[in-house]
Amino acid sequence: MKSILKKCISILTCMACALLLFSSNTIYSEAKTSKAKNIVVVLDPGHDNTHLGCHYEGFEEGLANLYIAYYCKQELEKYNGVTVYMTRYGFDCPYGANPDSKASCLTSRVNYAKSVNADVLVSLHNDYDPDLDASQNGSKVIVPNANYKPAIAAKGTALGQSILGQLTTTGLTVNNWKYCPNGTGIVTRDSESATYPDGSAKDYYALINQAKTAGFTAVIVEHAFCTNTSDRVNHLSTPEQYQQLGIADATGIANYYGLKLK
Ligand SMILES: [Zn+2]
Repeated sequence: MKSILKKCISILTCMACALLLFSSNTIYSEAKTSKAKNIVVVLDPGHDNTHLGCHYEGFEEGLANLYIAYYCKQELEKYNGVTVYMTRYGFDCPYGANPDSKASCLTSRVNYAKSVNADVLVSLHNDYDPDLDASQNGSKVIVPNANYKPAIAAKGTALGQSILGQLTTTGLTVNNWKYCPNGTGIVTRDSESATYPDGSAKDYYALINQAKTAGFTAVIVEHAFCTNTSDRVNHLSTPEQYQQLGIADATGIANYYGLKLK
């Protein structure tokens, strides 16, 4: 009886060992696979010399966004497993500098991201309150709505939260945008008339809805308000401040993808 028990225990031990070996092999191969996956991030410095963004009290959005993008790229490239491209590298519009070409410029930016197999398109902007409402300050991230391709919305929301969390460490507050107030700083905005092929409301912003149609996630990061004195003076006035914002964006992106520093 005792020897039968002993035999049973040894068989069980062998089975447990085999199971452990199998599962550790599985974990190892999964880690290997995810390590091999390179993430392609396309940064989009919003606006350019032709398609001007907001400007107020000496602040020029197209220039600020370009600074932030360069600093973000520089920081992201400190990580393994990521390739970073930008939709523009200079002040001029690389997609046909015609003042009437705003829509085709946006489409070209999405097409560029698609051409380099972007995993994500992160559009970098700053905001302006048309009523100069001083209560409008801080950061928000505009993410895809839940319609048509919900997985893209889920990814955009998680990435947006990761970026926003880093931006608040620079001293910026979470913006409760008066056009889409929800208190979280993670907002979606629907088109009032345009729809996706399934009949659901399209995302309002062309960059987001065109990327969703093409099959990848785009988010719009609105770092701060140039019409808010504290935001402008403390976050949008010097290269060092733009660097701080670019590093925050990069850290948020890297954390979302679980990237490791080189
Ligand atoms: Zn803008």
